[in-house]
Amino acid sequence: MNKIGIYYAYWTRNWDADFVPFVSKVKKLGFDILEVNSGTVANMTKAEKNRLKDAAEKNGIELTACIGLPEKYDMASESAEKRKRGVAFLKKQANALAETGIYKIGGIVYSYWPGSLPPGKTDKRPYWERSVKSMKEVMKTAEDRKVVFHMEVVNRFEQYLLNTAEEAVRYCRDVESPNCKVLLDAFHMNIEEDSFIGAIKTAGKYLGHMHIGETNRRAPGRGKMAWNEIFGALKSIKFKGAIVMEPFLIPGGEVGRDIKIFRSLEVKDMDAEAKRALNFVREKLK
Ligand code: MN
Repeated sequence: MNKIGIYYAYWTRNWDADFVPFVSKVKKLGFDILEVNSGTVANMTKAEKNRLKDAAEKNGIELTACIGLPEKYDMASESAEKRKRGVAFLKKQANALAETGIYKIGGIVYSYWPGSLPPGKTDKRPYWERSVKSMKEVMKTAEDRKVVFHMEVVNRFEQYLLNTAEEAVRYCRDVESPNCKVLLDAFHMNIEEDSFIGAIKTAGKYLGHMHIGETNRRAPGRGKMAWNEIFGALKSIKFKGAIVMEPFLIPGGEVGRDIKIFRSLEVKDMDAEAKRALNFVREKLK
């Protein structure tokens, strides 16, 4: 059965956090994976990376990482300086992740987040081509460090480059590296894809990682997401990757601001809610 995880920012107001306490927390709740912020790991000292790696090993928890690159690192930018900065930052992340025993990173690593085409521009091809070229540079380090980068397909309000599974597969084919794969997220798919089943089948062997959540980013099992279609399609392509839930419920702080949580979706017992959602997902995967 697939490993099931949860994103640490379910519990935090800021993107930077000490991830160590969350390792034992998610273990206690029954998860297999804790997903952490890749940018934070990249800036950790050797001792901090060791401490996190040891905590994960001791608890039998796999760590995965995620990031939406800030604009100054835009991998698709017209500015060569920004692209160079983006490539360097992702290489730094690949090295830091491998040192921490983390071999999967996903997110908006192909451009920046939240991002749109500059005013007046309508053709994304030059941005696509620059992004592919930048990503090819990162792949050398990714392959050396055995870190797989997952291109997260997100909705039009957050990015313009990869909005559908079909685009992400085409992007990975252009990058031509086994370390470049696709991340599909149910929340974004619900907005952009014609069909959950079609999108998952299109991603096929390129699909390396999944994010799940309800249409309003509540934890799985609370809303109207087409879970039977999604899990059915994952089974039909024999998906072996990780499934990480990414609920966002708390307004305020950097997380609430960036995710645009403008009302409280909080529940009384956040831990019990995570555990309930985990059981819901395990049941659906049976
Ligand atoms: Mn996501």
